[in-house]
Amino acid sequence: MKLIFELSAEGREGASLPELDVPEQDLGIPETELRSEIPLPEVSEVDVVRHYTALSRMNFGVDSGFYPLGSCTMKYNPKVNEVIAGLPGFKSAHPYQPEELSQGCLQVIYELSRDLAEITGMDAFTLQPAAGAQGELTGLMMAKAYFKRRGENRKKVLVPDSAHGTNPASAALCGYEVVEIPSDPRGGVDMVELKGKATEDVAALMLTNPNTLGLFEENILEISDIVHGNGGLMYCDGANMNAILGIAKPGDMGFDIVHLNLHKTFSAPHGGGGPGSGPVGVKERLARFLPKPVVQKNGGRYFLDYDRPESIGRVKAFYGNFSVLVKAYAYIRALGPEGLKEVAENAVLNANYVMRKLEGAYELPYDRVCKHEFVLSGKRQLDFGVHAMDIAKRLIDYGFHPPTVYFPLIVKEAIMIEPTETEGKETLDSFVEAMLKIAEEAEKEPELLRNAPKTTPTTRLDALTAARKPNLRWKER
Ligand SMILES: *Cc1c(COP(=O)(O)O)cnc(C)c1O
Repeated sequence: MKLIFELSAEGREGASLPELDVPEQDLGIPETELRSEIPLPEVSEVDVVRHYTALSRMNFGVDSGFYPLGSCTMKYNPKVNEVIAGLPGFKSAHPYQPEELSQGCLQVIYELSRDLAEITGMDAFTLQPAAGAQGELTGLMMAKAYFKRRGENRKKVLVPDSAHGTNPASAALCGYEVVEIPSDPRGGVDMVELKGKATEDVAALMLTNPNTLGLFEENILEISDIVHGNGGLMYCDGANMNAILGIAKPGDMGFDIVHLNLHKTFSAPHGGGGPGSGPVGVKERLARFLPKPVVQKNGGRYFLDYDRPESIGRVKAFYGNFSVLVKAYAYIRALGPEGLKEVAENAVLNANYVMRKLEGAYELPYDRVCKHEFVLSGKRQLDFGVHAMDIAKRLIDYGFHPPTVYFPLIVKEAIMIEPTETEGKETLDSFVEAMLKIAEEAEKEPELLRNAPKTTPTTRLDALTAARKPNLRWKER
C-alpha cells in the first residue's frame, strides 16, 4: 500500500470552493507567508476516503475477531452503550454547565459510584482517574495522605513479582520504595517472604486478585491480617474484575483501596491509547482523602462537593472521562446483579475450557483451576528453536489476535490467554485448533513460525529498531 504522500499529485484538491463573488483584495501579506511550507499531500476526496478505509481494514479489533490478549480484557463491547453515551443530553453537556443544568450527568456519576461501591464492597468512589495506572497513583496518594494524617512516615510498598508493571511504577512515582515479594510454587504470594517483609514501615501491599497468572489468592484473608497487623493498607488492583464480578468483593477480602478499569471490565472500547477510566474505591476511613469534587446528593438534588479540606485534590480535569462512565453505567444497568455474576462465570468457564484443551500441547506451569485467564509456557517449543513470539506471530496467520507474551515475567516464554466471557464455543474451538496446529508446526516446520506472519500487509517487523530509532518522517521529495 502507498503512503498518502505517494498518492499526491501537484495541484489536486479535495475541496472545491465557489468562485470568488467579491472583489479580490491585496492584504499586503507576502506570498511566502500565505503559502504553507509544509509539504502536505495533494489528493482528491475519493483518494482520502479510499486511503483511510484501506488503512482501517488492515487493523484488527474486537469487532473483527477473537482477541485473547491476557490481562487486557479485550471483550466485545455492546453497541447499545455507544448509543446511550451518544444521547444529546450526555454528548452535548459542557463541563462548565451549571449544576442545575447538569443534574442527569451528576446522577450518572453518583449512581455509578454507588454501583461500583456495591460491586467491590467499598464505601466511596472517585471516578476521576483516566486509566488503571492513574487510579493506582490516586489510591497510593490517598494512602500517603492517610499516613501523614496519622503522623506516620511509612516508606515502602510491597508488590508481588507477578504484578502488572504499572504497580511498581505507580508506587515509585508516589515516592515509595518498592519491595518485591516472590510468588510461591502455586503462583500465590509466598507467605514466608510476606511475613518477613510486611514490617512497620510498609504503607501498603498492592495485590492483584485474581493475579496476573489468573489465579485466586488462596491466602487472601491471612495476607490482609498480616499487612493490617503491622498497620499497613491493602491495595487491590482490580483491573480484571470480570473474573469475580458479582461473586466476590475486594472489600470482603480485607482490601482498603481498589481501582477498577472500566475500559476492561465494564465494556468501554479501549486500545490505541484510550480513552479509559480507572475509578478508585476506598473504605470509610480513607474517604476524606478522595479527589475533589465529590458528587453528593441533598434531597433530590445532586451537587459537586468541593468542601473537602483533606482531599488530595484533583487528579483529572473536570470529572473524568465522562463518556466512558456513561458506557459503564449503561452496561451495569443492562446486566443487573444476575447478569454481572454471569459475566464472571462465563469468563472463568471460557478460560478453563481453553486451558484444559491446550495443556497437552503446551507447558502449563501452574496447574490449578484458573479465573479469567491462564498462562502457558512455550518452553517445550523452545527445544525446536521456536519462541513465544513466533507462536504469537503465527496466530495472526490463522486470523487471531495474539495473546500477551513474555508477561508475567515469572513465567519463561509466557503465553497469557484471556478468552473473555463474550466468546462462544465455536470461536474458542477454532482458536484451540489453531494453537494445536501451531504446536505441531513448531516441531515439524519451525521455519514457518519463525517467518510468520505471512498473510499481513507487512511481515515480521523489527520491533526493537522501531522502538529505539523510530523513523517518523516521510521520504524527502
Ligand atoms: C491493564 C492493567 C493495569 C493498567 O491499566 P491501564 O488502564 O492500562 O493504565 C493495571 N493492572 C492490571 C492487572 C491490568 O491488567
